Amino acid sequence: MGNEKVKCLIIGSGPAGYTAAIYAGRANISPVLYEGIQPGGQLTTTTDIENFPGYPSGTSGTMMMEDFREQAERFGADIRFGIATATDLSAPPYKITIDGEKTIEAESVIIATGAAAKYLGLPDEDTYAGMGVSACATCDGFFYRKKVVAVVGGGDTACEEAIYLAGLASKVYLIVRKPYLRASKIMQARVHHHENIEILFEHNAIGLFGEHGVEGVHLVKRAGEPDEEKYDLAIDGFFLAIGHKPNSDIFKPYLDTDEVGYIITEPGTPCTKVPGVFAAGDVADSNYRQAITAAASGCMAAIEAERYLSECEYRLKSK
Ligand code: NDP
Repeated sequence: MGNEKVKCLIIGSGPAGYTAAIYAGRANISPVLYEGIQPGGQLTTTTDIENFPGYPSGTSGTMMMEDFREQAERFGADIRFGIATATDLSAPPYKITIDGEKTIEAESVIIATGAAAKYLGLPDEDTYAGMGVSACATCDGFFYRKKVVAVVGGGDTACEEAIYLAGLASKVYLIVRKPYLRASKIMQARVHHHENIEILFEHNAIGLFGEHGVEGVHLVKRAGEPDEEKYDLAIDGFFLAIGHKPNSDIFKPYLDTDEVGYIITEPGTPCTKVPGVFAAGDVADSNYRQAITAAASGCMAAIEAERYLSECEYRLKSK
Protein backbone atom coordinates (compact mmCIF):
# COMPACT_ATOMS: atom_id res chain seq x y z
CA MET A 1 0.00 0.00 0.00
CA GLY A 2 1.42 3.40 -0.99
CA ASN A 3 1.67 6.51 1.13
CA GLU A 4 -1.45 8.61 1.59
CA LYS A 5 -1.32 11.81 -0.47
CA VAL A 6 -2.89 15.02 0.83
CA LYS A 7 -2.99 18.59 -0.39
CA CYS A 8 -2.71 20.31 2.95
CA LEU A 9 -1.50 18.65 6.13
CA ILE A 10 -1.96 20.50 9.41
CA ILE A 11 0.05 19.25 12.38
CA GLY A 12 -1.31 20.31 15.75
CA SER A 13 -4.67 21.24 17.18
CA GLY A 14 -4.52 24.38 19.26
CA PRO A 15 -6.09 27.66 18.10
CA ALA A 16 -3.54 27.89 15.27
CA GLY A 17 -4.15 24.38 13.89
CA TYR A 18 -7.93 24.52 14.11
CA THR A 19 -8.13 28.01 12.62
CA ALA A 20 -5.87 26.89 9.77
CA ALA A 21 -8.27 23.94 9.27
CA ILE A 22 -11.32 26.25 9.16
CA TYR A 23 -9.75 28.48 6.52
CA ALA A 24 -8.21 25.62 4.54
CA GLY A 25 -11.53 23.76 4.58
CA ARG A 26 -13.35 26.83 3.28
CA ALA A 27 -10.64 27.27 0.61
CA ASN A 28 -11.34 23.73 -0.64
CA ILE A 29 -7.83 22.43 -0.14
CA SER A 30 -9.08 19.37 1.79
CA PRO A 31 -7.08 19.80 5.01
CA VAL A 32 -6.10 16.76 7.04
CA LEU A 33 -5.26 17.67 10.64
CA TYR A 34 -3.41 15.48 13.12
CA GLU A 35 -4.23 16.52 16.66
CA GLY A 36 -1.01 15.47 18.37
CA ILE A 37 -0.32 14.52 21.97
CA GLN A 38 -2.71 17.03 23.51
CA PRO A 39 -5.84 17.49 21.37
CA GLY A 40 -6.87 21.13 21.68
CA GLY A 41 -3.37 22.12 22.74
CA GLN A 42 -2.25 24.07 25.78
CA LEU A 43 -5.53 25.95 26.15
CA THR A 44 -7.18 22.76 27.36
CA THR A 45 -4.96 22.95 30.44
CA THR A 46 -5.72 26.57 31.29
CA THR A 47 -8.67 27.78 33.31
CA ASP A 48 -10.90 30.56 32.05
CA ILE A 49 -10.12 32.45 28.87
CA GLU A 50 -11.17 36.01 29.48
CA ASN A 51 -9.35 37.82 26.72
CA PHE A 52 -10.51 36.12 23.52
CA PRO A 53 -12.85 38.48 21.67
CA GLY A 54 -16.36 37.13 21.25
CA TYR A 55 -16.62 35.61 24.72
CA PRO A 56 -17.74 38.58 26.86
CA SER A 57 -18.27 36.40 29.94
CA GLY A 58 -15.17 34.29 29.33
CA THR A 59 -15.11 30.59 28.53
CA SER A 60 -13.03 27.54 29.38
CA GLY A 61 -10.08 26.60 27.18
CA THR A 62 -11.51 23.13 26.61
CA MET A 63 -14.90 24.46 25.48
CA MET A 64 -13.31 27.01 23.22
CA MET A 65 -11.18 24.36 21.54
CA GLU A 66 -14.24 22.11 21.12
CA ASP A 67 -15.97 25.01 19.36
CA PHE A 68 -12.93 25.54 17.11
CA ARG A 69 -12.82 21.82 16.29
CA GLU A 70 -16.53 21.66 15.49
CA GLN A 71 -16.21 24.69 13.22
CA ALA A 72 -13.26 23.12 11.38
CA GLU A 73 -15.21 19.88 10.86
CA ARG A 74 -18.17 21.85 9.54
CA PHE A 75 -15.98 23.00 6.66
CA GLY A 76 -14.75 19.52 5.87
CA ALA A 77 -11.48 19.28 7.79
CA ASP A 78 -10.46 15.66 8.28
CA ILE A 79 -9.40 15.65 11.93
CA ARG A 80 -7.50 12.63 13.13
CA PHE A 81 -5.76 11.47 16.26
CA GLY A 82 -2.04 10.90 15.72
CA ILE A 83 1.38 12.32 16.40
CA ALA A 84 3.89 13.43 13.78
CA THR A 85 7.07 11.58 14.70
CA ALA A 86 9.38 12.29 11.76
CA THR A 87 9.58 14.52 8.71
CA ASP A 88 11.31 14.79 5.40
CA LEU A 89 10.93 18.33 4.10
CA SER A 90 13.81 18.10 1.65
CA ALA A 91 11.56 18.27 -1.44
CA PRO A 92 7.84 18.25 -2.22
CA PRO A 93 5.74 16.27 -1.65
CA TYR A 94 6.79 16.56 1.98
CA LYS A 95 6.79 13.34 3.94
CA ILE A 96 5.45 13.24 7.47
CA THR A 97 5.49 10.05 9.51
CA ILE A 98 2.55 9.60 11.87
CA ASP A 99 2.97 7.51 15.04
CA GLY A 100 6.21 6.06 13.64
CA GLU A 101 4.22 4.00 11.11
CA LYS A 102 2.19 5.71 8.46
CA THR A 103 3.68 8.21 6.00
CA ILE A 104 1.67 11.09 4.60
CA GLU A 105 2.85 12.84 1.43
CA ALA A 106 1.71 16.45 1.65
CA GLU A 107 1.83 19.12 -1.03
CA SER A 108 1.72 21.76 1.71
CA VAL A 109 2.28 21.55 5.47
CA ILE A 110 1.11 23.82 8.26
CA ILE A 111 3.09 23.28 11.46
CA ALA A 112 1.01 24.25 14.49
CA THR A 113 2.59 22.01 17.09
CA GLY A 114 2.68 24.63 19.84
CA ALA A 115 4.95 24.47 22.85
CA ALA A 116 5.30 22.26 25.92
CA ALA A 117 5.80 23.15 29.57
CA LYS A 118 9.41 23.53 30.73
CA TYR A 119 10.83 21.88 33.83
CA LEU A 120 13.68 23.13 36.02
CA GLY A 121 15.83 20.13 35.15
CA LEU A 122 16.12 18.85 38.71
CA PRO A 123 16.56 15.06 38.95
CA ASP A 124 13.84 15.14 41.65
CA GLU A 125 11.29 16.27 39.06
CA ASP A 126 11.68 12.85 37.43
CA THR A 127 11.83 11.01 40.74
CA TYR A 128 8.49 12.48 41.83
CA ALA A 129 6.79 12.60 38.41
CA GLY A 130 3.14 11.75 39.05
CA MET A 131 3.88 11.74 42.79
CA GLY A 132 3.55 15.42 43.52
CA VAL A 133 5.22 17.10 40.55
CA SER A 134 3.02 18.61 37.85
CA ALA A 135 3.07 21.26 35.15
CA CYS A 136 -0.71 21.53 34.94
CA ALA A 137 -2.73 22.88 37.85
CA THR A 138 -6.07 22.36 36.13
CA CYS A 139 -5.19 18.72 35.41
CA ASP A 140 -3.86 17.83 38.85
CA GLY A 141 -5.04 20.54 41.25
CA PHE A 142 -7.97 18.41 42.35
CA PHE A 143 -5.58 16.08 44.20
CA TYR A 144 -4.40 18.90 46.45
CA ARG A 145 -7.65 19.98 48.07
CA LYS A 146 -6.91 21.42 51.51
CA LYS A 147 -3.20 20.66 51.05
CA VAL A 148 -0.13 22.87 50.68
CA VAL A 149 1.40 23.40 47.26
CA ALA A 150 4.13 25.46 45.61
CA VAL A 151 4.09 26.98 42.14
CA VAL A 152 7.38 27.95 40.49
CA GLY A 153 7.44 30.98 38.19
CA GLY A 154 6.57 34.65 38.11
CA GLY A 155 4.75 35.02 34.80
CA ASP A 156 1.05 35.00 33.89
CA THR A 157 0.92 31.21 33.83
CA ALA A 158 2.37 30.92 37.34
CA CYS A 159 -0.07 33.51 38.67
CA GLU A 160 -2.98 31.84 36.94
CA GLU A 161 -1.98 28.43 38.30
CA ALA A 162 -1.47 29.86 41.80
CA ILE A 163 -4.92 31.49 41.76
CA TYR A 164 -6.55 28.30 40.51
CA LEU A 165 -4.79 26.19 43.15
CA ALA A 166 -5.63 28.71 45.88
CA GLY A 167 -9.27 27.83 45.30
CA LEU A 168 -8.53 24.20 46.22
CA ALA A 169 -5.44 24.08 48.42
CA SER A 170 -5.14 25.45 51.95
CA LYS A 171 -1.95 27.35 51.04
CA VAL A 172 -0.03 28.19 47.87
CA TYR A 173 3.58 29.33 47.84
CA LEU A 174 4.65 31.12 44.68
CA ILE A 175 8.39 30.60 44.21
CA VAL A 176 9.79 33.49 42.17
CA ARG A 177 13.48 33.76 41.34
CA LYS A 178 13.46 37.54 40.82
CA PRO A 179 12.46 40.26 43.34
CA TYR A 180 9.37 40.99 41.20
CA LEU A 181 6.71 39.26 39.11
CA ARG A 182 6.87 39.31 35.34
CA ALA A 183 3.11 38.76 35.05
CA SER A 184 0.63 41.35 33.78
CA LYS A 185 -0.53 43.94 36.30
CA ILE A 186 -4.03 42.47 36.61
CA MET A 187 -2.66 39.00 37.44
CA GLN A 188 -0.16 40.48 39.90
CA ALA A 189 -2.96 42.28 41.71
CA ARG A 190 -5.04 39.10 41.92
CA VAL A 191 -2.15 37.14 43.37
CA HIS A 192 -1.22 39.87 45.85
CA HIS A 193 -4.79 40.08 47.10
CA HIS A 194 -5.32 36.36 47.54
CA GLU A 195 -5.03 35.48 51.19
CA ASN A 196 -4.02 31.84 50.48
CA ILE A 197 -1.05 32.81 48.30
CA GLU A 198 2.35 33.72 49.71
CA ILE A 199 4.99 34.94 47.29
CA LEU A 200 8.57 33.90 48.01
CA PHE A 201 10.61 36.40 46.01
CA GLU A 202 14.29 35.74 45.21
CA HIS A 203 13.84 32.04 45.87
CA ASN A 204 14.96 29.02 43.85
CA ALA A 205 13.86 25.42 44.29
CA ILE A 206 16.92 23.18 44.29
CA GLY A 207 15.41 19.81 45.19
CA LEU A 208 12.45 17.91 46.57
CA PHE A 209 12.13 15.40 49.36
CA GLY A 210 9.59 12.88 50.63
CA GLU A 211 9.21 9.15 51.31
CA HIS A 212 6.30 8.17 49.09
CA GLY A 213 5.77 11.42 47.21
CA VAL A 214 6.60 15.07 47.55
CA GLU A 215 6.66 16.15 51.18
CA GLY A 216 8.76 19.26 50.81
CA VAL A 217 11.03 21.43 48.72
CA HIS A 218 14.64 22.49 49.34
CA LEU A 219 14.85 26.24 48.79
CA VAL A 220 17.62 28.75 48.50
CA LYS A 221 16.90 32.41 49.09
CA ARG A 222 19.10 35.07 47.49
CA ALA A 223 21.46 32.48 46.00
CA GLY A 224 25.06 33.64 45.76
CA GLU A 225 24.49 36.74 47.92
CA PRO A 226 26.26 37.26 51.28
CA ASP A 227 22.92 36.73 53.06
CA GLU A 228 22.07 33.55 51.12
CA GLU A 229 19.78 31.27 53.10
CA LYS A 230 18.92 27.61 52.52
CA TYR A 231 15.87 26.03 54.11
CA ASP A 232 13.19 23.37 53.59
CA LEU A 233 9.50 24.03 53.17
CA ALA A 234 6.83 21.37 53.72
CA ILE A 235 4.56 21.03 50.67
CA ASP A 236 2.39 18.29 49.15
CA GLY A 237 2.51 19.37 45.53
CA PHE A 238 5.09 21.08 43.30
CA PHE A 239 3.82 22.83 40.17
CA LEU A 240 6.02 24.17 37.38
CA ALA A 241 4.95 27.27 35.49
CA ILE A 242 8.22 28.57 34.09
CA GLY A 243 7.42 28.86 30.43
CA HIS A 244 7.41 26.61 27.45
CA LYS A 245 9.60 24.93 24.86
CA PRO A 246 8.42 24.97 21.25
CA ASN A 247 7.63 21.54 19.78
CA SER A 248 9.88 21.92 16.77
CA ASP A 249 12.49 19.17 17.14
CA ILE A 250 11.39 17.04 14.16
CA PHE A 251 11.46 20.05 11.83
CA LYS A 252 14.85 21.40 12.86
CA PRO A 253 16.90 19.58 10.17
CA TYR A 254 14.97 21.49 7.49
CA LEU A 255 13.84 24.79 9.02
CA ASP A 256 15.61 27.65 10.77
CA THR A 257 14.93 27.97 14.48
CA ASP A 258 16.15 30.43 17.09
CA GLU A 259 18.28 29.42 20.07
CA VAL A 260 15.22 28.28 22.05
CA GLY A 261 13.77 26.31 19.13
CA TYR A 262 11.07 28.69 17.83
CA ILE A 263 10.66 28.26 14.06
CA ILE A 264 11.80 31.34 12.19
CA THR A 265 9.40 32.61 9.55
CA GLU A 266 9.58 35.54 7.14
CA PRO A 267 8.69 38.61 9.22
CA GLY A 268 4.94 39.18 9.38
CA THR A 269 4.14 35.91 7.58
CA PRO A 270 3.91 32.21 8.47
CA CYS A 271 6.26 31.31 5.58
CA THR A 272 9.30 29.22 6.50
CA LYS A 273 12.34 28.94 4.29
CA VAL A 274 10.82 25.80 2.67
CA PRO A 275 8.20 26.70 0.02
CA GLY A 276 4.81 25.26 0.96
CA VAL A 277 5.74 24.73 4.60
CA PHE A 278 4.22 27.20 7.04
CA ALA A 279 4.48 27.61 10.81
CA ALA A 280 1.71 29.10 12.94
CA GLY A 281 1.01 29.66 16.61
CA ASP A 282 3.31 29.19 19.58
CA VAL A 283 5.82 27.00 17.72
CA ALA A 284 6.84 30.12 15.79
CA ASP A 285 5.99 32.85 18.28
CA SER A 286 8.33 33.60 21.16
CA ASN A 287 6.75 36.99 21.68
CA TYR A 288 2.95 37.10 21.96
CA ARG A 289 1.93 33.46 22.59
CA GLN A 290 -1.75 34.25 22.89
CA ALA A 291 -4.72 32.22 21.67
CA ILE A 292 -5.85 35.12 19.52
CA THR A 293 -2.44 35.62 17.86
CA ALA A 294 -2.11 31.87 17.34
CA ALA A 295 -5.54 31.77 15.68
CA ALA A 296 -4.61 34.72 13.46
CA SER A 297 -1.39 33.09 12.33
CA GLY A 298 -3.28 29.85 11.61
CA CYS A 299 -5.55 31.85 9.31
CA MET A 300 -2.55 33.40 7.58
CA ALA A 301 -0.91 29.99 7.14
CA ALA A 302 -4.03 28.55 5.47
CA ILE A 303 -4.28 31.54 3.11
CA GLU A 304 -0.60 31.15 2.20
CA ALA A 305 -1.04 27.38 1.71
CA GLU A 306 -3.97 27.98 -0.65
CA ARG A 307 -1.95 30.55 -2.64
CA TYR A 308 1.03 28.21 -2.83
CA LEU A 309 -1.09 25.30 -4.04
CA SER A 310 -2.79 27.49 -6.67
CA GLU A 311 0.58 28.67 -7.95
CA CYS A 312 1.85 25.09 -8.15
CA GLU A 313 -1.27 24.06 -10.07
CA TYR A 314 -0.96 27.02 -12.43
CA ARG A 315 2.70 26.22 -13.12
CA LEU A 316 1.85 22.59 -13.79
CA LYS A 317 -0.94 23.54 -16.22
CA SER A 318 1.16 26.07 -18.11
CA LYS A 319 3.99 23.60 -18.75
P1 NDP B 1 6.83 33.63 30.89
O1 NDP B 1 8.00 33.34 30.03
O2 NDP B 1 6.11 34.89 30.72
O3 NDP B 1 7.27 33.53 32.43
C1 NDP B 1 8.06 32.49 32.90
C2 NDP B 1 8.35 32.71 34.36
O4 NDP B 1 9.09 31.60 34.85
C3 NDP B 1 9.17 33.97 34.64
O5 NDP B 1 8.81 34.54 35.87
C4 NDP B 1 10.59 33.40 34.72
O6 NDP B 1 11.43 34.14 35.54
C5 NDP B 1 10.32 32.07 35.39
N1 NDP B 1 11.38 31.11 35.08
C6 NDP B 1 11.82 30.71 33.87
N2 NDP B 1 12.81 29.78 34.00
C7 NDP B 1 12.98 29.62 35.34
C8 NDP B 1 13.84 28.81 36.10
N3 NDP B 1 14.72 27.97 35.52
N4 NDP B 1 13.76 28.89 37.45
C9 NDP B 1 12.86 29.72 38.04
N5 NDP B 1 12.00 30.52 37.37
C10 NDP B 1 12.07 30.46 36.02
O7 NDP B 1 5.89 32.35 30.67
P2 NDP B 1 4.34 32.18 30.96
O8 NDP B 1 4.10 30.76 30.66
O9 NDP B 1 3.98 32.68 32.30
O10 NDP B 1 3.60 33.10 29.90
C11 NDP B 1 3.85 32.91 28.50
C12 NDP B 1 3.01 33.90 27.70
O11 NDP B 1 1.64 33.54 27.79
C13 NDP B 1 3.14 35.32 28.19
O12 NDP B 1 3.11 36.17 27.10
C14 NDP B 1 1.91 35.50 29.03
O13 NDP B 1 1.49 36.84 29.10
C15 NDP B 1 0.89 34.64 28.29
N6 NDP B 1 -0.17 34.14 29.19
C16 NDP B 1 -1.34 34.85 29.23
C17 NDP B 1 -2.37 34.43 30.04
C18 NDP B 1 -3.62 35.22 30.03
O14 NDP B 1 -3.66 36.26 29.39
N7 NDP B 1 -4.66 34.78 30.70
C19 NDP B 1 -2.25 33.26 30.91
C20 NDP B 1 -0.97 32.60 30.81
C21 NDP B 1 0.02 33.04 29.98
P3 NDP B 1 12.09 35.53 35.06
O15 NDP B 1 11.00 36.55 35.13
O16 NDP B 1 13.16 35.70 36.08
O17 NDP B 1 12.62 35.29 33.69
